[in-house]
Amino acid sequence: MDDPSPKGRVILVGAGPGAADLLTMRAVRALASADVVVHDGLVSPDIMALIPPAARRIGVAKRRARHTLPQDQIGALLVAEARAGNIVVRLKGGDPFIFGRGGEEVVACQAAGVPVEAIPGISAANGASASLLLPLTHRDHASIVSFVAGECRGLADQDWAGLAGKGRTLVIYMGLAGAMAIADKLMADGLAPETPVAVIERATQAGERMVTSLLADLGDLVAREAIESPALIIVGAVATLPAKALALAKEIPCPVY
Ligand code: SAH
Repeated sequence: MDDPSPKGRVILVGAGPGAADLLTMRAVRALASADVVVHDGLVSPDIMALIPPAARRIGVAKRRARHTLPQDQIGALLVAEARAGNIVVRLKGGDPFIFGRGGEEVVACQAAGVPVEAIPGISAANGASASLLLPLTHRDHASIVSFVAGECRGLADQDWAGLAGKGRTLVIYMGLAGAMAIADKLMADGLAPETPVAVIERATQAGERMVTSLLADLGDLVAREAIESPALIIVGAVATLPAKALALAKEIPCPVY
């Protein structure tokens, strides 16, 4: 039966890219208050460990090609749990509103009259950027940064013209499987085959890895290095900065104290 008390509500919480200490304090507080946590497949074990033992956990794994619950059923689940009087934390990798389908869940809650709020998370691009000392903008290299979804499905219909190139950084989420097609698409749009690229696997998590190359080699690079999901592709001059910084650091002898 529905609980007439106003306690039931939904909190969309951004879990960040993996490391538990990259959660916001507000996210940690929300997790501590949860009666139910509805989580997807990208949330790391360190973060799952912060869920109170008494809270119920409901997994709605969202990995590529392995959707266990369709989006409308996730919305219905959030609404039903909140109407039963629960504080429902919807825990999502990264930020809920960057390729997180948070917008659809907000609409589902609002349509049902269930109070809903969102707590931001560090998106994979920001986590990767900080972890690898790879600035997404830089006065000498890029003053525009774009985030795009590189899923194979619908790639041909997406208009990325002008998003990559001189003075611009393009961050591609979900682009691993389509890496070859993405490189072809960008080059067909006029991007130079020599444009630098970086692929960052498991940013901020154990086993984090970055490999770099040139756009024409992107598809081969992903295959050669056996890059696995989750990974980001970064296209633009900023992709060369971590290697340059490392080379510079090697030239400068460390001060001895
Ligand atoms: N809402 C999330 C993105 C979800 S889409 C966010 O804001 O980060 C899932 C995609 O995010 C993955 O396919 C991958 O491209 C990227 N991603 C998520 N976590 C990542 C990580 N730790 N390292 C690299 N890429 C990651």
